[in-house]
Amino acid sequence: MCGIVGYIGKREAYPIIMNGLKRLEYRGYDSAGIALYDGTGIQLAKTKGKVSDLEARVEAEIKTDGKLGIGHTRWATHGVPNDINSHPHYSNSGNLVIIHNGIIENYASIKKELENRGYKFKSDTDTEVLVNLIEEVQKVENVKLGKAVQIALNQVVGAYAIALFDRNKPDEIVVAKLGSPLAIGIGEDEFFVASDASPFIEFTNNAIYLEDEEMAIIRLGREVKVRKIKGDMLVDPYIQELQLNLEQIEKGGYDHFMLKEIFEQPSVIKDTYRGRLLADQGIVKLGGLEDHIGKFINANRIIIVACGTSWHAGLVAEYIFEDLTRIPVEVEYASEFRYRNPIISEKDVVIAISQSGETADTLAAIKLAKQHGAFVYGVCNVVGSTISRETHSGTYTHAGPEIGVASTKAFTTQVTVLTMMALRIAKEKGTISQRDFMLHLRELEQIPAHVEEALKSDDKIMEIAEVFKNAKNFLYLGRGYNFPVALEGALKLKEISYIHAEGYPAAEMKHGPIALIDEQMPVVVIAVNSNHYEKVVSNIEEIRARQGVIIAVVTEGDTTVKQLADYIMEVPKTPETLSPLVTTIPLQLLSYHIAVMLGRNVDQPRNLAKSVTVE
Ligand code: GLU
Repeated sequence: MCGIVGYIGKREAYPIIMNGLKRLEYRGYDSAGIALYDGTGIQLAKTKGKVSDLEARVEAEIKTDGKLGIGHTRWATHGVPNDINSHPHYSNSGNLVIIHNGIIENYASIKKELENRGYKFKSDTDTEVLVNLIEEVQKVENVKLGKAVQIALNQVVGAYAIALFDRNKPDEIVVAKLGSPLAIGIGEDEFFVASDASPFIEFTNNAIYLEDEEMAIIRLGREVKVRKIKGDMLVDPYIQELQLNLEQIEKGGYDHFMLKEIFEQPSVIKDTYRGRLLADQGIVKLGGLEDHIGKFINANRIIIVACGTSWHAGLVAEYIFEDLTRIPVEVEYASEFRYRNPIISEKDVVIAISQSGETADTLAAIKLAKQHGAFVYGVCNVVGSTISRETHSGTYTHAGPEIGVASTKAFTTQVTVLTMMALRIAKEKGTISQRDFMLHLRELEQIPAHVEEALKSDDKIMEIAEVFKNAKNFLYLGRGYNFPVALEGALKLKEISYIHAEGYPAAEMKHGPIALIDEQMPVVVIAVNSNHYEKVVSNIEEIRARQGVIIAVVTEGDTTVKQLADYIMEVPKTPETLSPLVTTIPLQLLSYHIAVMLGRNVDQPRNLAKSVTVE
């Protein structure tokens, strides 16, 4: 995920692009760059760091005149954040310059092919491969830029929003979209391009939002020509009148980043398994894992270290790893692990989970594990982060920047990665049947659709939130795979609404917490189809017998719990192993709505920080 901006028209492009990048910085902020056409050639500046670092560099290094330009704020997926990997990227001839948001999955094979034809690459990015593929097509097919982009994109697998221009044809910008957003602002004798409308909202209210697999040629003095990337069909673009203000646009029309991130989950889970999970072909493959799979198979045990929500993702992983791979797993709070003289051997594999990749306690736990000779694998979201560099190998979750302090999409994408790891290792180790393996791959591929479905209960969950917003305490119960979800649900509520909540394994209730239950105590029970369903039903009966109020998360079509619970939140049916990916959704929404109703600062709850870089 990143922010892209472009301008062509009658005004100076530089201030528009620079301002636009500042507004898009929430989309990614590890590096930034800009390319301007100054009337004779391209002026390009880029740097690791924030847009403000770029601003300083531009003003020191390049001329900023020109009425055509493109800019980018990066969130690295391929290649660490540094100056060279920052966008824009030139083609080898220096004629073309591109910015890109997304991932080109088959970049490695295209790169090899281009290298065989003499192309040289400066960066480690997938983007530089794409711009050179376009150049090669232009040369070989002898076609105009728009056509070359179309032909090239037909060879590409992945996701993209791109904008590029040719210094020899400085009256047009070519853009295309698949999977990543792209809006075209239409002014009088001027056009804007951006990941969302925020960079151009003060200049025009008219915008075309490209659909997936569409591209557009934006030429001065002409109407925007939109066509399908596949086939050769021209599309009549729908020009939308924008009615949102700036802040609403940055949040994608949602009131808070947290809500936006909750609703992004179907698409980011897809981004997480994009190019890694090919259910039809029976393949699950993680770059960082392939070379080290033996370490896992021969491990005495796996130790998972993490904090907060990532620790809950680790607990889900404990269930799935032990279930599928039969390797013993221990899940540790990083902060406890590092200080208690733990027993670690060279036969242990440590998995460190952290959204930011900067969590100080997790980092310290990694260092300790390495000192004892353990192999350490990272699961992080932020590319190039300290943990991703300190670990021996790892997998990125590709969730895009998470701005809301309370983690939502970070959790589901971590669980997605850990599930893929467990499946890959189980397959290699022979602890999963072919039938079960295939079933899991297919079901995992369905998760984004199921999450989408679960999100449709939002209005209903808001009504439930209204009923319980003044409760002083909540209890969350779940068994098996959904015990960690109960913990995560309680944590979400605590974090953003400041209501006291506890998560418990449902069967543990009778060993203590049952004493808390009375008619004032809402009890959220995760009671989806599973091996423990009947047991959970009994737990619900026990709560009812003590006048507790039950809010149950159930599988669509459930009839038994429906009769027992006071309120229900339905989710689609999944195998139990994958159920945390959907059962967590209504709990995120419940916390969110309660916090909003209580007037809390949802995106920046008191006393918390997004990335905990202190002990
Ligand atoms: N895959 C590209 C890169 O790593 C683009 C990432 C983005 O969307 O910012 O440079």
